[in-house]
Amino acid sequence: MALPVEEWRVCAARRWAALEPALRERLSAASLHDALPLSCGLLRPEAEAAALRGLCRRARAGKEPAAARFYREEGNRLFGRRHYGAAARLYSQAASHELPGSPEVSVCFANRSAALFHLGHLEVCLEDIARAESHGYPDRLLPKVLLRKAECLLCLGRVQDAADALSAVENKIAVDGITTTQQTLLKKLNQLKIKIHEKESCPEPAPEGRDDIPRKSEVWEENDGISGASSSLRLNFDRERGRHLVASQDILPGQTLLKEEAFVSVLCPGERLLLPDSSETAWDTRVTNADLYCHRCLRQLLASVPCRGCSYAKYCSQNCADVAWEQYHRTECSLGPLLLTLGVFCHVALRTVLLAGFAEVSRLVEWSHDGDKDLRNPEARCKHLGEAPDTRAGTRGIPGCNDNGQYQSSYQAVFNLLPHAEKHSPEHKFLFMLSVVAMCKELQEAGLEAAVLNQESSEKWSKPKTREKTSGELSPGLKIMAEAMLRHVLQLQCNAQAITVMQESGSGDGAVVNKKPVRLATAFFPVLSLLNHSCCPNISVSFTGTAATVRASQPIRSGQEIFHCYGPHRCRMGVAERQQLLSQYFFECRCQACLDELESDVKSVVSVRNSFCCPSCRAPMQGEDMLCCSNEACAISVSRESLSHRLLDLQQQIKKALEQLRDGKADQAIKMLQKCQMDAGNFLSPEHLLMGEMEDHLAQVYATLGKWQDAARHLERSIEIVEMHHGPSSVEIGHELFKLAQILFNGFAVSEALSTIQRAEEILSVHCGPQSTQIQELQEMKTCLSELPRSILQRT
Ligand SMILES: [Zn+2]
Ligand SMILES: [Zn+2]
Ligand SMILES: [Zn+2]
Ligand SMILES: [Zn+2]
Repeated sequence: MALPVEEWRVCAARRWAALEPALRERLSAASLHDALPLSCGLLRPEAEAAALRGLCRRARAGKEPAAARFYREEGNRLFGRRHYGAAARLYSQAASHELPGSPEVSVCFANRSAALFHLGHLEVCLEDIARAESHGYPDRLLPKVLLRKAECLLCLGRVQDAADALSAVENKIAVDGITTTQQTLLKKLNQLKIKIHEKESCPEPAPEGRDDIPRKSEVWEENDGISGASSSLRLNFDRERGRHLVASQDILPGQTLLKEEAFVSVLCPGERLLLPDSSETAWDTRVTNADLYCHRCLRQLLASVPCRGCSYAKYCSQNCADVAWEQYHRTECSLGPLLLTLGVFCHVALRTVLLAGFAEVSRLVEWSHDGDKDLRNPEARCKHLGEAPDTRAGTRGIPGCNDNGQYQSSYQAVFNLLPHAEKHSPEHKFLFMLSVVAMCKELQEAGLEAAVLNQESSEKWSKPKTREKTSGELSPGLKIMAEAMLRHVLQLQCNAQAITVMQESGSGDGAVVNKKPVRLATAFFPVLSLLNHSCCPNISVSFTGTAATVRASQPIRSGQEIFHCYGPHRCRMGVAERQQLLSQYFFECRCQACLDELESDVKSVVSVRNSFCCPSCRAPMQGEDMLCCSNEACAISVSRESLSHRLLDLQQQIKKALEQLRDGKADQAIKMLQKCQMDAGNFLSPEHLLMGEMEDHLAQVYATLGKWQDAARHLERSIEIVEMHHGPSSVEIGHELFKLAQILFNGFAVSEALSTIQRAEEILSVHCGPQSTQIQELQEMKTCLSELPRSILQRT
C-alpha cells in the first residue's frame, strides 16, 4: 500500500521503456528541479492520465446511497442478533455514506446509540443521541430516542437530567397523542418513572473520588538542542554515519530518550477500499483501519464522525474532523480515489506540503536551488564539517538545524532528510514523477490550486471552483509544490516510519486477549529519523496516537551511538536476508551482528534455530540445497525443497485448525493442532519458531474452553522457544508473559500469576513505559488478586 497500485506501476514502466534513450538519459541525470518540467508532458491525457482515471474508478471514497442502505440493513440484522459491536461499526459505515444533516444520517446515529447503550458506552451513547437530534432526527421517532437518553442518564446517576429528559418525552406524547404502536413505549416510560422516583427519594451516596495513586513519573529533562530528545543525548555528524545521536551520559534500560509527535502521518487504508475490478458494486463488511482509527489522530474509534464530503475519512470527534479539514482535508477530500490509487507515500508527500504551507515550502525549495552547491547537498556538506561537533556552534552547520544550532521537528528538518535522488533507480523516480504530476493536475482541474497555494479567502474554501480544463502546463506555484512532493516521496523510502499498535486478533471475545502488532500509519518523524539502523538495536519504540516514544532497551554507555532497527532484526532473519532488505536504504549494515555473521563462520541464530532435523533419527540436517543428516551412522539426505514443501503444508494445516477454532469447534482444533505437532516433530528442529507457535495456538484453544492449567502448560513451552529466539528481556517475551498472566489470573493460580505479572511488568515497562495500557492492565490484575483471599475467606 506504500507504493501505487500495481497496474499504475506497470503503466509507468511501459511509458518509461518506450521513451527515447536520450530522453531517458536526461531524466535519469536531471535534478529534482529539472526533472519535473520534463515529465510534465509525459503524462499524456489520452493515455497515462486516462488509464489512471480508469484505475481510480475502483476506489471507494465517495458517498453512495446504495452503500448506506446496505450497511444500515446489515447493521440492523446484526443488532437483532445482539452483535452490538459489529452493528455499531456498520451503522458508522452507513453514516459515512449519508449526507450530513439528512434524516438518514440521523437515523444511523440513533441506531448506533442503541448499540452503544447495550455495549455499556453510556457517555458515547449520549453523544450519538445529541448528534441524531442535531442532524434532524424525524420527529415521530423522537420519543424512543429520548427514552434511551433518560435511561442512559439514570444509569450514569444523573437523576435530575434523567427526570428532565423523561418529562420531555411525556410532553411530546401528550401533544402528539399516542398510537397503539407506542404502547410498549409508554410501558417503558412508566417503568423509568418509577426508577427515577426511587432514586430521588433515596439518593445513593455520591461515589467517592477514586484516589488515583500517582504513578511514578519518569525523570525527564529535555535536550535544549534537539526538540523532544532527552538531555542525555547529543547530535553528532560525520561523513560515514551522517547525522546520528549518541549518549552523552550513561543510560539505563527503560529510560525515555525521545518523545516526538509525527510531523505528518497518514492512516494506511484498508484493502477493501480498492476493488479488484470496476465491474461490481459488491459492498462488504470487512473491517479496515479506516473503520477502527481516527483519520487524523489515530485514536481508536467508537462512534466515528464522518467527513462531510467523503466516505473514507472518519474521525474520533467533531474537533478532529474540523482541524483535519482546516489543515489538509479540504484539499484531500475529493482526491480520495486518486490518493488510494497512488498509495500512502504519495499521500504523505501531499499532506506534508499542505501542512507546511506554500510559503515555507517555496522558501526551502528556492533555498535548495541557490547558494553554494555544497551547502545544499547535505552529503557534500560533511566535508566542511569534518569531525563530529559537540558544541552548539558545531551543530549550527548540520543540515536541518536552525540558525541557533537547534534541531527541531519542523518542516525544515523534514526537508533536509536525505532524498538520495541519485541512488534511486530511474524507473522508480519516473513512476513518482508521473504520480506527482498526476496529483498536481488533479488539484488544478478540481479548482483546488488556490487552496493549495494558500491564496484563497476562507469563505471560498467551502466550495471549490467547478472543474476547469487546463493546459498541460502546471502553474509556477504548483511546480514548486510538485518538486517538494517528489523530494518527500523519495525521502520516504529511507525515512518513512511505520506507526504500529498492538491490535486484538481474532474475535476478541475470549478471556485471553491475543494481540499482534499491526501497521497503522506511515509518518515522518524528523528527530526519530536521526537514528541509524542496527540489526541489534539498543532502543524500543512505542506509539500513542501519532506520538512516538523511544526508550533504551539495554544499558547504553556514554559515547555509544543510539541505534534503531528499521525492520531487519537479527532475531528474525539471517544476515543475507537482512542485507538484502537493507539495500533499499542504500547502505551496507556494519552492525555487530552483521560483522559477526559475515566475518566468522558463525551461522545466524535464526538459521540454527529454524533448521530442519533428520526425518529418520532427528539429528540436525546440514547443507544447502541437499541436506544431509549430521549423524554419520544415519547418512540420510533430503532435498531442501521437499522439506520446504512439507513446512508449507504444515502451515496450511495450522491455518485450517485456527479456522476450526474461529467456527467454535475447539475440540477439533485441538486434534488438528496435535496432529500438526506430531508431523512437525518429524522434520523440524525442536527450537523451530513454528513449534512455539503451535504451542501458543493450543494455549489459546484451551483458554477458550476455560481449561486454564492446560493453557498455561502450553504457553510456558511457547515462551521457552520465544525466549531462545528473542532473548529473555525482549518485548516479545513481555507480550507472551502478559498472556500467561491472564491465563493464570483466570485460573486463580494466585502466586504463579503474581510472579508472572511481576516479570511481565519489568520487561514491558522497559519497552513500552510504565503508562502503557498493558502495564495498567497488569496492575489491575494484581490489585484484583491481592483482594481475592479476603473475599474467599469471608465466604467460608
Ligand atoms: Zn481524532
Ligand atoms: Zn472527506
Ligand atoms: Zn546489521
Ligand atoms: Zn539421521
